[in-house]
Amino acid sequence: MLVKFLPLSFVDWPGHNSVTLFFAGCSYRCPFCHNKELQRFAPEVPGVVEDIEAHIERHSALLDAMVLTGGEPSIFLSDYRELIEYARSFGLSICLHTAGYNAMEIERNHDILDYVIVDGKAETEEEHERITGFPGSWHRLHSTIRVLENYQIPFEIHRLERKEADDEN
Ligand code: SF4
Repeated sequence: MLVKFLPLSFVDWPGHNSVTLFFAGCSYRCPFCHNKELQRFAPEVPGVVEDIEAHIERHSALLDAMVLTGGEPSIFLSDYRELIEYARSFGLSICLHTAGYNAMEIERNHDILDYVIVDGKAETEEEHERITGFPGSWHRLHSTIRVLENYQIPFEIHRLERKEADDEN
């Protein structure tokens, strides 16, 4: 669930001033995970939603985006739909970072997503599943891409550099 936020980021969605939300929980176990402490599922931190709403209200002139990252935030889209809609009501665009885990949630909430950054872990099914440690992760990734294409949600795919994977394994 939602555990913390960064009040202002210029790098999580390049070209945007975002408030960045961090969700705890991911079913993958990539060895090079940049946010290992967010792999474990954890309950929502009390008061965090209210703090984010107050922050957006106070600084809406400075912000133009909300970035959802983790962990794997696609899991929690419906849980936080109200908060996302709140941000949109202040004119913020919404960017989702995902490894493509939950295509159904992305489809269900396609209307509140403005941009998606997809992390592709490998170029083949076998390698992808070896890295994520999760059977079916390759198909999940492709289901997510199909949803993004069907709903014409702009997206980019970040491809993992082979060297990085080898170094960390
Ligand atoms: S998908 Fe992302 S958050 Fe999940 S283990 Fe891999 S790098 Fe970490």
